Formats: sequence, structure tokens, C-alpha cells
Amino acid sequence: MDASRLALITGANQGVGLQVAKELVANGVTVLLGSRDLARGEAAAAGIGPAAIPLQIDVTDSASIAAAAARIRSEFGRLDLLINNAAISSTQARDIGSPEYLAANRPSTASLDEIRAVWETNVFGVVAVYQAMLPLLRESADARIVNVSSGIGSLTTNADPGYEYHRLFGPVYPASKAALNAMTLAMMIELESTDIKVNLVSPAYTSTNLNGFAGSQPIEEGSREVVRVALLGPEGPSGTFTRWEGAPIPW
Ligand code: NAP
Repeated sequence: MDASRLALITGANQGVGLQVAKELVANGVTVLLGSRDLARGEAAAAGIGPAAIPLQIDVTDSASIAAAAARIRSEFGRLDLLINNAAISSTQARDIGSPEYLAANRPSTASLDEIRAVWETNVFGVVAVYQAMLPLLRESADARIVNVSSGIGSLTTNADPGYEYHRLFGPVYPASKAALNAMTLAMMIELESTDIKVNLVSPAYTSTNLNGFAGSQPIEEGSREVVRVALLGPEGPSGTFTRWEGAPIPW
């Protein structure tokens, strides 16, 4: 069995997840590179090297999640690090700051099908992966879960009319991240009496497919906090929600 730390990153075939996979491998971690499309995962893993292992996992498909967990159990017997990164901003538009998107995504205008589709990936997908992977994390001597959320899901920040993105808070993507934050708090509370750490992080506003490549930060900068928290050792904190080291995000 491989003695290096073993991580699973969901949605790691592009964007922040891919960047985190590269940096974890560079730091000696073996990375199960999660991808809903195996071919895209294989291509991404091949670009990193043998310590990146493609793994088909669609977080909205319970059979796919169960098969991924079964493979990890049979090949490794444990999981040390789970990074719940996969998310969608929309089933169609990508620039969730555009006037057209905002007009169509008020509580009064948003399609319930759209809300359900985004929450299925961003909220229920994370809970489903958590439930499937927790038994494997319990087999690790130093387990950590990192949920990738967004500052845009902070209820405290968004309730302030002076917050620059106050008017962007809507029921589809922003509220899905608020719900993810709530689910993460429940995970933190469930695991606070165990050695399994749980952290919530927000990448910076990063140029990726999620936002139609409108994000202002390059991928290395945008992924920096996810990488930092993922590489925390056994003495590193649990229960945090951060944007940068020393920069907590209000819940
Ligand atoms: P991205 O480039 O669009 O990557 C999202 C990844 O999630 C893709 O690999 C995508 O796979 C995957 N995915 C989507 N639905 C999935 C499903 N059902 N099952 C498995 N994988 C699925 O977006 P990103 O910007 O890197 O986003 C990564 C995380 O950062 C997300 O949680 C996002 O909310 C968060 N975030 C991003 C920003 C930003 O500015 N970019 C800011 C704050 C938070 P496909 O390639 O198959 O579509």
C-alpha cells in the first residue's frame, strides 16, 4: 500500500480542483482526481503524473459515488483528505454577475428546476460524498475534510446592504453555498468529538469555467487557500471558514 497521504478531490479535471491536485501532488500527496467524465479525468491526471489517479465520480449519482468509495476501500483501505470541490453556478449561463443572470435569478423569477439542479450538485452532492467517504476517513490516523464554498454564501456578509455583492445574493448559486455552509457546520458538530478535522474555505474570485472565465484572479492565486488548508497537518485547526490564512469569513 502507498504510504503517502491520500486525497480525493471532486471536480478536479479543471479549474480550482485541478490546480489543487497539481499542488498536492507536488507536496507528496497521492491524489484521486475526481471527474464526472472519466476521459477528462484521465487526461487531467496524465498531465500531472503517476501520483494523480483518475477516479470517476459524479456527485449527483449515488451509484457513481458508491463505486468510487468501493474502489478506494479495496485499493487503499482509507482516505486521509476529502476535498469537496465540485460545483456548478448554473445549468446554463456562467457569468452569475451579469444583469441578465441576476434578473432571471431573483427569488421571484428563478426556476425551481434550476434551483434544484444547482443545489443537487453543490449541497446534496457534498452530503452524499461525505456519507460515502466518512467510513474511509475514519480509517485514517490524520483525516481532514475541506469543503470548498464561497464568500458569496456568507449570510452575515450578505445581510449587510453595504457589502459589494449584496445585490448578487440569490436563491440559486449564492444560497446553495449558504446551505453548504450550514451542512458543513453540521459536519463540524458531528465530528468535533473525533480526530477528523473539517474546514470550509473560499477560493478567491478566480478565472474558471464556473464564472465564464470572468474571475479576476489567476488560478494559482485563487486556489491558494484551498491548498494551504488541505496541507494542514494533524495539529492544524478544525472548524474554520477562511479566505486566506488569518482571514476568517463570517458565517
Ligand atoms: P470549474 O472550473 O467550473 O470546475 C468545477 C468542477 O466541478 C469541474 O471539474 C466540473 O466537472 C465539476 N462538476 C460539476 N458538476 C459535477 C458533478 N455533478 N459531479 C462531479 N463533478 C462535477 O469551477 P471552479 O471555479 O474551479 O470551482 C471549484 C470550486 O470553487 C466550486 O466549489 C466553486 O463554487 C468554488 N468557488 C469558485 C470561485 C471562482 O471564482 N472560480 C469562487 C468561490 C468559490 P466538468 O468539467 O465535467 O464540468
